[in-house]
Amino acid sequence: MVHCAGCERPILDRFLLNVLDRAWHIKCVQCCECKCNLTEKCFSREGKLYCKNDFFRKFGTKCAGCAQGISPSDLVRKARSKVFHLNCFTCMVCNKQLSTGEELYIIDENKFVCKEDYLSSTSLKEGSLNSVGSIGNNT
Ligand SMILES: [Zn+2]
Ligand SMILES: [Zn+2]
Ligand SMILES: [Zn+2]
Ligand SMILES: [Zn+2]
Repeated sequence: MVHCAGCERPILDRFLLNVLDRAWHIKCVQCCECKCNLTEKCFSREGKLYCKNDFFRKFGTKCAGCAQGISPSDLVRKARSKVFHLNCFTCMVCNKQLSTGEELYIIDENKFVCKEDYLSSTSLKEGSLNSVGSIGNNT
């Protein structure tokens, strides 16, 4: 009798899946985070199964803005050695998204100000300005 690695009950179904060298009910092969069924690809870590999104959210590169993981389907921006979600890469004053090639000012490592706000704000100029960078693509 084959026992399912997920629910530990015997597998009486005609079809079973082999994952991590063990047999599973088809319905038991699901992401341990969002419980979606993993039919095509699954990722595992320490005997637990994850869908692609949850796997990268938990174990992938972390966004320097919101500290959440970045999945391969997310659009990202890189600034210096840090990676940000596109949505997290915004001007701290006007919240507009900063785009490729745009001049920006980096303040306190993780905060950005667009050029207009920087130029119109005297307190920022006197503040902790670290450097001026330009944005690159994730290539
Ligand atoms: Zn099962
Ligand atoms: Zn999931
Ligand atoms: Zn983020
Ligand atoms: Zn701005």
